[in-house]
Amino acid sequence: MNVVKRIKFLVLLAGVASVSFAEPSSPDNIFGIEEIEISETEADESQLLPPDTEDDLNDFGDFVSYDENLPEGLYNSIWSDVAVNPYNINLYRMKDTVQIDMRDYHHPIYGKVTSVFGMRRYRYHYGTDIKLNIGDTVRCAFDGKVRIAKIGRGYGYYVLVRHENGLETIYGHLSKILVKPDSIVCAGDGIALGGNTGRSTGPHLHFEMRYVGNPINPQSLVDFETGRPISNTYLVCAETFKYKGAVNNLAYYTVRRGDTLSGIAKKKGTTVSKLCKMNNITARTTLKIGRKLRCS
Ligand SMILES: [Zn+2]
Repeated sequence: MNVVKRIKFLVLLAGVASVSFAEPSSPDNIFGIEEIEISETEADESQLLPPDTEDDLNDFGDFVSYDENLPEGLYNSIWSDVAVNPYNINLYRMKDTVQIDMRDYHHPIYGKVTSVFGMRRYRYHYGTDIKLNIGDTVRCAFDGKVRIAKIGRGYGYYVLVRHENGLETIYGHLSKILVKPDSIVCAGDGIALGGNTGRSTGPHLHFEMRYVGNPINPQSLVDFETGRPISNTYLVCAETFKYKGAVNNLAYYTVRRGDTLSGIAKKKGTTVSKLCKMNNITARTTLKIGRKLRCS
């Protein structure tokens, strides 16, 4: 059993210096899922689902993988009012177990879950969608400090809050933001009004929970029927991020005998030109069997 570590966020409320980070562009950024267009021939009604293919949401540049414990103090030293995931730390193989205090949880809005965390056609959906009416009050899940309050292409108007228990929560597709970066907020505070902004096809809240930039399925922490935490504590460990294996499979394709670029593009829901660009090849490049092509 790993040592259970309790994270304190004293620095959080004391105010943290802004640190700017270079945009991740490493080819090792295997979880950097980018926007994929569904070709016309494959268009179907699933395109009408609330897409939540937010660019910000796909800001998933964790190219540093920690096999050991998270370096002490690292989280607190990073603060950005721009990047959803300024950490670039992949916790897929984390050895540590971190205890998250769920006792003060407040459900952001009560409503029907319209889309769950998980694979959605060609891409991963990193949050839980809750139906609402435009103008409904969206409430903060825990005490904390607002890190981001702005408009993004995918999320629309959104708020990201860092909490004292170590989690960060994101509220997307809002119609109005009621807080500013660095605002101190309490669990249950109205931080925004619900809406349909960004890449959204109907009024709903896109709600995410992340730990050091790594999304966690909100439904493993919260019962969305009752709006109550499933348990007083949630243990973040490697198991929490097991789904990243599926994301990785989604991002790469291993060339097999008889494959063509157009065939691969169709299978992976992308285009030949995008495949060429991502893999630095041309449409005439001979594909060796076994070669791994980046597909998203
Ligand atoms: Zn969503």
